[in-house]
Amino acid sequence: MISVNQALSLIQLEAVAPRPVEVALEEASEKVLADNISSPIDMPPFSQSAMDGYAIRGNSSGEFRIIGESKAGDAPQFHLDEGEAVRIFTGAMVPENADTVVIQEHVEVKYNKLSIIKFPSTGANIRLKGEQFQKGSPVLNKGTVLNESGIALLAGLGINKVKVFDTPKIAIIVTGDELQKPGTVLKPGKIFESNSFMLKAALKRNKFREVHHYKVRDNILETKETIRSALAENDVLLLSGGISVGEYDFVREALFANGVEEIFYKVNQKPGKPLWFGKKEDKRVFGLPGNPAASLVCFYVYVLPALRRQKGFKNVDLKKASAVLSRPAENKSGKSLFLKAKVQDGRIDILDGQSSSMMHSFTQSNALVMIPGEKELIGKNEKVEYLDLGYGY
Ligand code: AMP
Ligand code: MG
Repeated sequence: MISVNQALSLIQLEAVAPRPVEVALEEASEKVLADNISSPIDMPPFSQSAMDGYAIRGNSSGEFRIIGESKAGDAPQFHLDEGEAVRIFTGAMVPENADTVVIQEHVEVKYNKLSIIKFPSTGANIRLKGEQFQKGSPVLNKGTVLNESGIALLAGLGINKVKVFDTPKIAIIVTGDELQKPGTVLKPGKIFESNSFMLKAALKRNKFREVHHYKVRDNILETKETIRSALAENDVLLLSGGISVGEYDFVREALFANGVEEIFYKVNQKPGKPLWFGKKEDKRVFGLPGNPAASLVCFYVYVLPALRRQKGFKNVDLKKASAVLSRPAENKSGKSLFLKAKVQDGRIDILDGQSSSMMHSFTQSNALVMIPGEKELIGKNEKVEYLDLGYGY
């Protein structure tokens, strides 16, 4: 059985190169730029007033005659002679030979005459043409994650389409004869299906929007057929359940029948030991354990980083940090443990209810403590590493 680190390296080794696509700017947020971007225009495109006031030529003194007005959106052609000023507003074009804007709070205007109470320094209150970017100069590099500020910057340069890395299409395939839809009356021997809800929510939080949901009963033909169509319609398959060694676990066999190559099966960890990973051409397949808490641990540790990498992100793992244990912890399993925990003020509490079928402790946690297989006992106040689940609470 391979270790957690070996499993992580194998997944990384088999990473699929992010695929560039052109999208409308509105679709580009939370995506990664696939190209360097240079400015198609001078920014600002013309010298603009940064304030409401009066445009003058510097080093003037005394009284000015107001010869006209420049407001935002207009393109007046003023040429100032000695002793002349133009009324101007924020964002408006500065007359070609004006070099200073005096703010309106620092002047007195009587009829058409302007007296300046307080002279600003020459060049004040003007945003010079091209001061942010000259046409053709670099703006954002390939690999930048676009958020709302990046979107605004690009829109402001007149760009309405960008090349970003495509978001993989993801299939969630749940398996199990015992599964019933929430909202129905539970029949004897059945349980409510929760993994698809969990995985969809986790994918949604991480901005993976193209998610297709498939269901199969514990039946080899149905499993094979569903995997066949899911491979045709998606980039990454997440199978839930059916990957253990029981008589009714058909996932592995059905994957082989579809020509999916096994990269690894089983990781020396708890929870999530039966994790399966494989590939077929540029498709990647994760067989996740059926138990919800085990499935979610595998999602955070293995699936999410792989999906983020495929989307072009450089920082793909959950943030690692360390904190001091508030109670001692034992590990007699020889396996790497991922324990649901709550971090607060630098101290970390490992929660009760670590069973792989229990979700309540997950809802109370904001971290997964990582305890290496070779570590049998961790004392109170000892430092441990954890993965920040990034919920922000
Ligand atoms: P399996 O890996 O298929 O043997 O499933 C392991 C455990 O997880 C069993 O108790 C299943 O009933 C449960 N399980 C499997 N799939 C789901 C699911 N989609 N939602 C909730 N529990 C599940
Ligand atoms: Mg099952």
